[in-house]
Amino acid sequence: MVMTAGGRRGLRPDPHRSPPAGSLATSLQDIKPYCPPMLFPTIPKCAGCEQPILDRFILKVLERSWHGKCLKCIDCQAQLADKCFARNGQVFCKDDFFKRFGTKCAGCEQGIPPTQVVRRAQDNVYHLHCFACILCKRQLNTGDEFYLMEDNKLVCKADYEAAKAREQRGQRSGHAPPSPPSN
Ligand SMILES: [Zn+2]
Ligand SMILES: [Zn+2]
Ligand SMILES: [Zn+2]
Ligand SMILES: [Zn+2]
Repeated sequence: MVMTAGGRRGLRPDPHRSPPAGSLATSLQDIKPYCPPMLFPTIPKCAGCEQPILDRFILKVLERSWHGKCLKCIDCQAQLADKCFARNGQVFCKDDFFKRFGTKCAGCEQGIPPTQVVRRAQDNVYHLHCFACILCKRQLNTGDEFYLMEDNKLVCKADYEAAKAREQRGQRSGHAPPSPPSN
């Protein structure tokens, strides 16, 4: 083995030196002053306000700890003490979570909470109140006939047929030669 100049022998423990008598007691005394700082990291810091949490209840969300008052919906600022929803490191109340991430209503383009009753038309999902004719605003019920427009809007059968009839009349009169005054 080749030793280089300025070897670091001094940093290595000397295997030939036996521990001095009474070293156990000394080392216990040495440890004591380190106890309080060792405990400190177990007081969790709030992910919201960065202050240590000394409350009796600590909320654990997203593997982080929060004061009850600091866990708020990012959209409406409601406190989320009993229930919250998280995504991408952000927390939301239930309504705002599903507004953002729920299945989008084809009528109003807001998300739909899974607990809400929905209506479907082909691949589209609608809030109950959005599943309505855009012309007469009547909500469509199961069994009602309706037409699904290109922009996902719905038209009840009566309005659709009335509109179609108007259109056809319009086309006919458009192609007809201007009629002379009748009197
Ligand atoms: Zn806090
Ligand atoms: Zn909210
Ligand atoms: Zn809707
Ligand atoms: Zn209608």
